[in-house]
Amino acid sequence: MSRIVPSNLHAGSLLWHFIRAVADFSKMSLLISFLSGFSADLAVDLGTANTVIFLKDKGVVVDEPSIVAINQATGEFEAFGHEAKEMLGRTPQGIVAVRPIQDGVIANFKVAENLLRFCITKAIGGGRFRRSRIIIGVPSVITPVEKRAVVESALRARAGEVFLVDQAMVAAIGAGLPVTDPVGSMVVDIGGGTSDIAVISLSGIVHSQTVRVAGNAMDTAIVGYVRKKFDLLIGERTAEQIKIEIGSAAPLDKPLSMAVSGRSRLEGLPRTAILSDTDIRQAIGECIDAIVMGVRATLDKTPPELSADIGQRGLTLTGGGALLRNLDVKLRNETGVPVHVAEDPLMNVVSGTGAMLTQMKLLRRVAINCT
Ligand code: ADP
Ligand code: MG
Repeated sequence: MSRIVPSNLHAGSLLWHFIRAVADFSKMSLLISFLSGFSADLAVDLGTANTVIFLKDKGVVVDEPSIVAINQATGEFEAFGHEAKEMLGRTPQGIVAVRPIQDGVIANFKVAENLLRFCITKAIGGGRFRRSRIIIGVPSVITPVEKRAVVESALRARAGEVFLVDQAMVAAIGAGLPVTDPVGSMVVDIGGGTSDIAVISLSGIVHSQTVRVAGNAMDTAIVGYVRKKFDLLIGERTAEQIKIEIGSAAPLDKPLSMAVSGRSRLEGLPRTAILSDTDIRQAIGECIDAIVMGVRATLDKTPPELSADIGQRGLTLTGGGALLRNLDVKLRNETGVPVHVAEDPLMNVVSGTGAMLTQMKLLRRVAINCT
């Protein structure tokens, strides 16, 4: 706030008035700040399986399955995230659990927008916020229309400025790969709907490929295998648990097994079967082959200089699928390239996106053009 100072005041009093003016000004801006909300910078990983949000100076604040439960009769959203996932396969009549992002593309805009809004609101506690910057990691295969839809969804969720980044690029950044260097880095991000394979050099994607086979396809394959071999009907969620508990891509040193309960197809009654790691390798074999083929095809199209870098430095696995036992061994055997599993692979995309919040120069280089 400005003050009128009489000209006959001596220097000490002038200083005192100056200090008071500054104090008033700070109080005023605090008040303005309070009234108009606070500024929150967010990084969002809009994944096919999980939506994860990183808040600047705080870290990961939201990690929810990308699932929404909808009441078919009223069209109302019954539940989001974990609560909706709990309902998968258990929904009462009239309620369906929907995954709005499928195969790396937004299958249902309205549902995706509401999921995004739910997660953003959860991240900032429902408070008002302004001038916030939101960076969203989106699948590589997203169309221009989908890009605009994601940006508009974020703006409607009260963002001030929105940037989109390619999930494969930020996965590489989150995994600590030297994406800005003039060397080839290869990242294989295995999520729920897609496996995104990219070769990166000098902050750009030199070549990329999306295989529409990843974690969800493995779960579906396990459901089919258990039904066929054991005459046992199980749901997607059980299949995912089996994959996580005893799944592998190449033989294990120590065998694993698990008792699985479901409904007998013949008798229609509850029954339990014992599944082994060999069973699951057989069940998901074709899925693993599809991912291996994608990696081989990408290596095949990589320029020779970068290919030599990758042959030496290896490729890095990110995304939840990277946690599948011995997937690194399988890929190493099939391609001859060294394979590393990123640390905390489920968080690579969001941590790479979060890193962009404080690296504006790099963000401007890797941001996707939305026009
Ligand atoms: P998205 O980016 O598509 O949201 P994520 O990177 O979050 O996907 O990974 C989710 C997928 O990873 C799911 O299919 C999940 O079943 C799978 N997953 C998570 N943990 C493991 C594990 N330990 N072993 C195998 N698959 C896993
Ligand atoms: Mg992902």
